[in-house]
Amino acid sequence: MRKINLILLGAPGAGKGTQAEIISEKFAIPSISTGAMIREAIASGSELGLRVKSFIDKGDLVPDAVVIDIIKDRLAKPDCANGFILDGFPRTVPQAAALDEMGVEITDVISIEVADEAIMERMGGRRVCKKCGATYHVKYNPSPNGDHCACGEALIIRSDDDPEVVKSRLVVYHEQTEPLKDFYQEKGLLKLVFGREKLEETTALTMEALA
Ligand code: AMP
Repeated sequence: MRKINLILLGAPGAGKGTQAEIISEKFAIPSISTGAMIREAIASGSELGLRVKSFIDKGDLVPDAVVIDIIKDRLAKPDCANGFILDGFPRTVPQAAALDEMGVEITDVISIEVADEAIMERMGGRRVCKKCGATYHVKYNPSPNGDHCACGEALIIRSDDDPEVVKSRLVVYHEQTEPLKDFYQEKGLLKLVFGREKLEETTALTMEALA
């Protein structure tokens, strides 16, 4: 099997995290979410967590230098040697340039395309597990345990899934992250997957893009 060093692009709520989990299992490679790592730092009350909480709560991006450091440490871990999935990084052109400077080889870039209106609807139904990080949707990807995670923990609504915060995050996405599509198109790496309502259909298209 070829090596996959994948970047997943897409608006918040487009389904990157869900696809990342599925790809991670299928190819036995780690899925790396800077958002999840930042949320863990906040939950643990670490110095880093305290520094970045206000950005997340407003729907703003955390400063490039902070996430670049986080990702540099993470990609240096041995489990990334056989491939990895980046979910939510890079989110700005300087972050993508930093990956290049680190000498990280990217084999695939997939952008999951979903209209803003559909995102607004989806985010309202998103539920996450604070313990294991799994994400669900009440309608499109319900937990087998109802309002509890498969791991047993009660599911919660993320504070940044509040509709006003989602709107700001979409503005940030279009302004700062969407230009990355051109960045990777120019490198010949970009593939678009049009997100479908049914999770399995989006997964099938994503797998096709990786074939
Ligand atoms: P996510 O779970 O990927 O939607 O990320 C949640 C929040 O974490 C974002 O709204 C940002 O505030 C922050 N974040 C995650 N990844 C990045 C990144 N690569 N650059 C800047 N901020 C990030």
